[in-house]
Amino acid sequence: ETLDKGLEKSKTTFFSKLSKAVAGKSKVDDDVLDDLEEVLVTSDVGVNTTLKIIDRIEARVSKDKYLGTEELNTILREEIAGLLSETHVGEDVEFTTPSGKKPYVIMVVGVNGVGKTTTIGKLAHQYKKKGLKVVLGAADTFRAAAIDQLQVWADRVEVPIVKQKMGSDPASVAFDTLSSAVKQDADVVIIDTAGRLHNKVNLMNELTKVKRVMQKVVEDTPHDVLLVLDGSTGQNAFEQAKQFTKATEVTSLAVTKLDGTAKGGVVIGISDQFQIPVKYIGVGEGIEDLQVFNKYEFVDSFFG
Ligand code: GDP
Repeated sequence: ETLDKGLEKSKTTFFSKLSKAVAGKSKVDDDVLDDLEEVLVTSDVGVNTTLKIIDRIEARVSKDKYLGTEELNTILREEIAGLLSETHVGEDVEFTTPSGKKPYVIMVVGVNGVGKTTTIGKLAHQYKKKGLKVVLGAADTFRAAAIDQLQVWADRVEVPIVKQKMGSDPASVAFDTLSSAVKQDADVVIIDTAGRLHNKVNLMNELTKVKRVMQKVVEDTPHDVLLVLDGSTGQNAFEQAKQFTKATEVTSLAVTKLDGTAKGGVVIGISDQFQIPVKYIGVGEGIEDLQVFNKYEFVDSFFG
């Protein structure tokens, strides 16, 4: 299973840290709870979510004073799955689009380097495999490389791309993309946007304008604002989630680079802190390395 392979490192690390923390101890006491707190924090679950989990486990310990460390595993799983459930109502999204939304418009946000372009390419590929007609929009006009990279993925996946020259108005690119998609009777539109965080007011203004202009072509768009975060960056990912959720209404998350990282805990902390569902996870650089997030599989892999 790719997910198992992808999460191998986080699994080993979290699980081995946990095992070390409870080694030689038969019941869950304050020492075990302190150690568990440290294991969760160092696995990038984040301080607030860690404290929430510890509180819940303390509540269970106060009911059952002789709670054994063997049960800790099961209880932790339940608590973590429970936290993920709070942001994951209903079934997992497959690579389909909701009915009555044609074209279905996804605006993708995130800072440079997190895997935004790659995620767009992988996503386009999955939709195309489902027989859906996809159009990409290169509205990250700030860097020439961003436009070129998206073009590379458009060629690889064999989907049309709408672009203008570097420095042009992102809102204008988004407008053209949606107009073209409507004309082509496309099913899905994926718009790449600039990921500059150094100027928050500009970022907010730009994203607001892109949305406003999109709505001139297709009402109530974008249907999804997908924030891409690099799962291997720990606290940076939290900080980016904070900034982007301030700048625009983020409706879903994609967490990349969960292969080869010991930081899978970021998924738990971020979905809990921001109450935004993780829709996709990136588990490699290849075109097929995007998975629909499944909390049960995730928790299983995390614990081994
Ligand atoms: P962007 O600047 O956010 O658009 O980032 P790119 O999509 O160009 O990706 C930056 C780098 O991360 C590239 O080398 C990608 O191949 C790599 N990358 C993207 N997603 C993943 C992933 O899920 N796993 C791994 N290992 N690498 C990834």
